[in-house]
Amino acid sequence: MKHQGVEDNYRHKGLRQNLVKTLQTKGIKDQKVLTAIMNIPRHFFLDKAFEEWAYQDVAFPIDNNQTISHPYTVARQTELLRIHKGDKILEIGTGSGYQACVLSYLGAKVYSIERQEGLFQKTYTLLRKIGYGNIRTLFGDGYKGAPRFAPFDKIIVTAGATELPKTLMNQLRIGGLLVIPVGSTEDNKKMLRIKRISEDQFTRETFGAFKFVPFLQGTNNKI
Ligand code: SAH
Repeated sequence: MKHQGVEDNYRHKGLRQNLVKTLQTKGIKDQKVLTAIMNIPRHFFLDKAFEEWAYQDVAFPIDNNQTISHPYTVARQTELLRIHKGDKILEIGTGSGYQACVLSYLGAKVYSIERQEGLFQKTYTLLRKIGYGNIRTLFGDGYKGAPRFAPFDKIIVTAGATELPKTLMNQLRIGGLLVIPVGSTEDNKKMLRIKRISEDQFTRETFGAFKFVPFLQGTNNKI
């Protein structure tokens, strides 16, 4: 496989092995999540200029002023979702497409929505090119979820919210999980896991603080 004229070679695989070790040191235990990270060429999701840094545990700029999340954040959110083969999952914030590929690698049926049209188009093309055309990408305002395809077994929000969006909670099936960073400042979002236990009852667990670009309402058609 090749992207932007760059192969996925042994050097990249070696760097990924080190990244996996780093993630284990930071507390990621789910072997399946680590295997997905070991097998997905993260440098394909970044500008060629960042190839050398693709396997460090850092966030990077992608188009439209957005970022690809830290590998640790991707791993932790994925771990919290407890993905099973066949899970129907909605991702809010497609961005580079990397998180969506991790979910798809684990056997989930992924719907992913992005509000930046430029990013949506770029990632749509990339996913097809690298063999992940089965991910259903949508352009729109993820604040509204994807009612056409609801209910979902899992929902993951990859942008930082200021409050829990009721609309998304209501698109979970009973027993389903929502993993979402919520907080009043950009660099201190608490990771929440919400479980829908009945039509109108939800439980909530909190896991650590993270930094995220903001979860915004509406769409942006400027490319
Ligand atoms: N999951 C991405 C992370 C991208 S950063 C990845 O793996 O690369 C968060 C993304 O959320 C940005 O692309 C931003 O444009 C998008 N976003 C923010 N608010 C949104 C909304 N209301 N609907 C859809 N996408 C949104």
